[in-house]
Amino acid sequence: MKDLSFAIIGAGPSGMYAADALLKNNPDASVFIFDSLYAPYGLVRSGVAPDHNKIKEVTKLFDKTFAKEQVSFLGNVHIGKDISVEELRSFFHAIIFCTGAHKDRSLGIEGEHLTHVCNATSFVGWYNVHPWFQDFRIPFNKKKVHIIGQGNVAVDVARVLLKNPKELESTDINPDVLEKLKSSEIRDVHMVGRRGPLQAAFTDKELKELGELEDVYVSVKKEDLILSEEERAYLENAPKTLKANYEILKNLSEKPFAGQSKTLSIRFFLSPVRFDSVDGETVSSVTFCVNLLSGDVANRKAVPTDKQIEEHTDIILKSIGYRGEQIDSLPWDDRKGTFSHEHGLISDGTYQLYTSGWIKRGPSGVIGTNKADSVETVQTVISHIEKLPPITKSIKELYELLSQRGVRVIHFNDWVTLNKAEMDRGEGIKPRVKFNSNAEALSYLEK
Ligand code: NAP
Repeated sequence: MKDLSFAIIGAGPSGMYAADALLKNNPDASVFIFDSLYAPYGLVRSGVAPDHNKIKEVTKLFDKTFAKEQVSFLGNVHIGKDISVEELRSFFHAIIFCTGAHKDRSLGIEGEHLTHVCNATSFVGWYNVHPWFQDFRIPFNKKKVHIIGQGNVAVDVARVLLKNPKELESTDINPDVLEKLKSSEIRDVHMVGRRGPLQAAFTDKELKELGELEDVYVSVKKEDLILSEEERAYLENAPKTLKANYEILKNLSEKPFAGQSKTLSIRFFLSPVRFDSVDGETVSSVTFCVNLLSGDVANRKAVPTDKQIEEHTDIILKSIGYRGEQIDSLPWDDRKGTFSHEHGLISDGTYQLYTSGWIKRGPSGVIGTNKADSVETVQTVISHIEKLPPITKSIKELYELLSQRGVRVIHFNDWVTLNKAEMDRGEGIKPRVKFNSNAEALSYLEK
């Protein structure tokens, strides 16, 4: 089969790696990469923390993929809203969904609806200028924040809240958030895990950075780090990151308070069971139950005890992982929050719909993890080449359909213009100042 035409839905890392893998296998294929936003690169722009700019250099590789004449960008096109999956099928031999996992998970406890019980994702989206989260607010005139969860997102959020805002001035953080951080009265941040130090999901490099924050005392209780003989033996042969995490936590627990004005408490063995409110509207306290751990040392589970602790709080940021969002009625695994698939083939009984990245495997791993994931999916596509359905409509017809529906497609040359404009707005001080909506980007293009 010649002149293969593929659609990739989502221009984040898994989509870009999938495009690359498709072209390596089929240099003559055409690849059309869709995104609902005006800009490509997904989580690299809207997930990676502003002070981790180096990680964003991976976009230079992705730019090279877009520079190939076989590759097109269709930004500002929302699949499932502007055009259905069923309609899209006519234009492509295969469609690979790489739409990530942006929906929050719920704790399912009382008081989760209260004002200032928020999702860390929304805060991340706000400070990274993701168009969907620009109405998010937290009260910076309050003191105490509890972050629920101990993954790297929790670490990012804690760092951004506590870092000297001057150090964020030369980043691409949302300028409004930066102004708020400059007058922030948040002083007391708690990052709370339901299990122990050997089960925390953060990685050592990220944890170490927390210990280096200016004017921040990092509090770790020595008693939380006591290990049983079995745990000590496990740690001895554990992966490097886990050993390093434990060492860093131990060092932090031994550092005395030195008059810092802000505190970050890293706490273990606590699960929130309830949020309460004095005025019936805004969260004012959180109740935790104290957990014990049980089960195999490599896979300990948190088991609640009868002991509970209630403490005052001003803001709750839930950072307990993400879920994907089902598109149209494609086969869905509701437990995992991913498409139902086999090695990337979405299980709808046809050989046309595929998936990669967080919407395929769940929200885990770093940007590079998506490369192997997308290679696996593309191998599956290639193994089905003879079974892929024929195309019945041309790309010209697709552009006409979108135009009839009032969709202004943002092409890659538009993005080049917008990218330059964002960088110019940084005035040589910041890497860029992002547009805060598709509408703002479009009105810049129309000028
Ligand atoms: P994550 O690493 O899966 O961490 C989720 C955290 O939430 C865990 O501590 C988990 O505890 C906790 N949790 C889940 N359900 C809970 C519940 N019901 N009650 C209390 N706690 C609960 O997720 P993430 O932080 O969102 O990160 C997603 C992925 O992006 C990860 O692979 C992460 O490494 C990556 N990332 C990397 C960077 C970086 O490299 N700098 C930055 C950001 C994100 P349990 O372990 O007990 O389930």
